[in-house]
Amino acid sequence: MAEFSLSENLSISDLLNISACASCRECYLYCPVYDVDRRRALTPREKLKNLISILKKERGLLASLFGPRVKDEEIKDFLSALYECSVCAQCREVCPAGIDTPKLWERIRANMVSSGYGPLPQQKTISQSIRNYDNPWMQPRGMRGKWAERAFKEGRISRPVQDITKNRAKVLYYVGCTASYDQNITEVAINFVELMNIAGIEFGILGPREKCCGSTPLRIGDYATFEQQAIANIDLFTELKVDTVVFSCSGCFKTMNQDYREVKRLPFRTLHLVQFLLELMEEKKLVPLKEVPLKITYHDPCHLGRHNKLYEEPREILTRIPGIELVEMKRSREFSRCCGAGGGVKAGFPPINNAMTDMRIEDAEETGADELVTACPFCYQSLQLGIQRKNSYLKIRDVTELLIRSVK
Ligand code: SF4
Ligand code: SF4
Repeated sequence: MAEFSLSENLSISDLLNISACASCRECYLYCPVYDVDRRRALTPREKLKNLISILKKERGLLASLFGPRVKDEEIKDFLSALYECSVCAQCREVCPAGIDTPKLWERIRANMVSSGYGPLPQQKTISQSIRNYDNPWMQPRGMRGKWAERAFKEGRISRPVQDITKNRAKVLYYVGCTASYDQNITEVAINFVELMNIAGIEFGILGPREKCCGSTPLRIGDYATFEQQAIANIDLFTELKVDTVVFSCSGCFKTMNQDYREVKRLPFRTLHLVQFLLELMEEKKLVPLKEVPLKITYHDPCHLGRHNKLYEEPREILTRIPGIELVEMKRSREFSRCCGAGGGVKAGFPPINNAMTDMRIEDAEETGADELVTACPFCYQSLQLGIQRKNSYLKIRDVTELLIRSVK
């Protein structure tokens, strides 16, 4: 095992962040993990306190005189609390000291990985699979674009989806692993490509050449796997000379729109589909005319909302559909409760993921809405499973599913 070091790669601003906590406990009130697991060690404030304690034992005066004296047990307790967090950024949003907690959690996780402690054993298989198969579930690469072939054969889309490596186009639709492989979620991709067909957009997908964006490895601290995926994707998109890359997954979008920019310059635009669809609506290429009489509520995905501040675009699309009544949950926009799937929690702590999803479904039920709408296949998957588990009356939808009903 490599020498243990939590201080490695921490910048002066990270250290200032760590010591800036004012102990106001505002984060206790909003952390969605603490809502379902009431152990104080999980709260951002306690994590920062425990981190300072470890850093002192690793680098303080006594450590310089007598050597580091961090006990293995202390590291493992901290590790478990550090990973039981969906990196949802809710704590950053409410922190009066402005501590960039998600960035900090990810850096410390990376140090846990380089010290040989992280990620959790259940999370290691995800990274291995991404390195070997370019997706987290050991699925064959050749199956990645099959949803598009099936959808055309079944008459669900009006034109075959083009392979952009063979038929060059300016717009690349990056489908993402969840919408490509999960048969219950491919609906999102099918609706989006048909919306682009209706709008007359020339676009293509990568099919078997699409590679996982590396979001989960980055969130769990496996920077090497993330960087490998980032460089491969940036180089491929650059070689294809695309102008715009559009994403349906909020996690892929956050990763490419923000984290990739720290690796390499991106010579193309990165847009989430809500931004792209709204542009098409503004240009009158998509005009929602048919009535969709539904009372809905909208779940802001953390990576789209808090991480990218895209709160209004999905609401703008939904409320332009005739017949739609949008009712907000008590926690929405910057206070949206995380569904619990992100940050490695889904693989690392399934019962915590489930309990968080269940709370979000209860938030949605409280509004009296008929349907729960979101704009991320990963949230969609988690909420769909939660609705089944809880036997909720709600139906889960993606923004694209409602829009296509109105424009078709
Ligand atoms: S990022 Fe989210 S889950 Fe993690 S500590 Fe902050 S509020 Fe809690
Ligand atoms: S909200 Fe910020 S300042 Fe307040 S206890 Fe939490 S981490 Fe510390």
